[in-house]
Amino acid sequence: MVAAAKGAPVTIEKVMVPDPGPGEALVDVLACGVCHTDLHYREGGINDDFPFLLGHEAAGRVAAVGQGVTDVSPGDFVVLNWRAVCGQCRACRRGRPQYCFATHNATQKMTLEDGTVLSPALGIGAFAEKTLVAAGQCTPVSDQADPAVVGLLGCGVMAGLGASMLTGNVGRGDSVAVFGCGGVGDAAIAGARLAGATTIVAVDLDDRKLQLARQFGATHTVNASTEDAVEGVRAATGGYGADVCVEAVGHPKVLEQAFFARDLAGTVVQVGVPTPDMQFPDIPMIEFFGRGGALKPTWYGDCLPSRDFPLLVDLYLQGRLPLDRFVSERIGLDEVEEAFHKMERGEVLRSVVVL
Ligand SMILES: [Zn+2]
Ligand SMILES: [Zn+2]
Repeated sequence: MVAAAKGAPVTIEKVMVPDPGPGEALVDVLACGVCHTDLHYREGGINDDFPFLLGHEAAGRVAAVGQGVTDVSPGDFVVLNWRAVCGQCRACRRGRPQYCFATHNATQKMTLEDGTVLSPALGIGAFAEKTLVAAGQCTPVSDQADPAVVGLLGCGVMAGLGASMLTGNVGRGDSVAVFGCGGVGDAAIAGARLAGATTIVAVDLDDRKLQLARQFGATHTVNASTEDAVEGVRAATGGYGADVCVEAVGHPKVLEQAFFARDLAGTVVQVGVPTPDMQFPDIPMIEFFGRGGALKPTWYGDCLPSRDFPLLVDLYLQGRLPLDRFVSERIGLDEVEEAFHKMERGEVLRSVVVL
């Protein structure tokens, strides 16, 4: 499924996939979720390297590996990731590989039949029967899991879970408020529950989404179209504000609400992706200083796929993490364009292409 030009509907094309070279793996894709980032690529919001091979929230089976690959073997069931850490950059050498500056993708290029080089979304490109990635982008997980469900850990759901569990460091008895209850926000709610939060406030403009947020663990809901978001969070947290506020929209107004909805020394985690034209909210510096705490953007939930994916898949299989609830519908490859429209209308958490 290829995005040929800015704003043009996506189309199915024949893709030439090279045999894996050194450090690479060829993967038979089993399922791939439709993410906002795929739409951003299509809209030209990421860069201009058209044509894009879209799709990046995927699970599959390793079909072949190139020279020197020892971490995965043909037949392994894997979730694909976009953080194959290098082990050699400054962050990796300091023991903080989740901040790796030089993550790996496949070196060889996938192309159209006429040789036009494709840009795979987030270095993955999994709206395809086969894709070529760096071997480190394949994280083996339990074979028992449904690929349509666990493939979602490859991007948005991991970003939300990690926003609470890793970046926000939510712990037992914490109060958490999540602003924006799409797939990422609901994952932040599920992560907060898993980490032991006792009060979890969901904030959104849409009552349908707030209802769904309760299924992931929200204990309170605030509809910000009818009540003040900050006051709503305060009321739900005994007047204090939340220990951790997760901004899952990517909008200055919402970031400002998250900032003021914290208790003293609370943390704001920014996981919603802003557009380049947005400015940081105009907040008096004395409020920043006086309230203490932390403002923490998070990329991919600060996850380390090799550490976090197998753990989260196990928790899902044990019934402790409702990952399956993120799958709103299963669709064919030819239904991606329609899935974009459903996503824009807020009708789905995730449409998942099953191959
Ligand atoms: Zn590195
Ligand atoms: Zn994504």
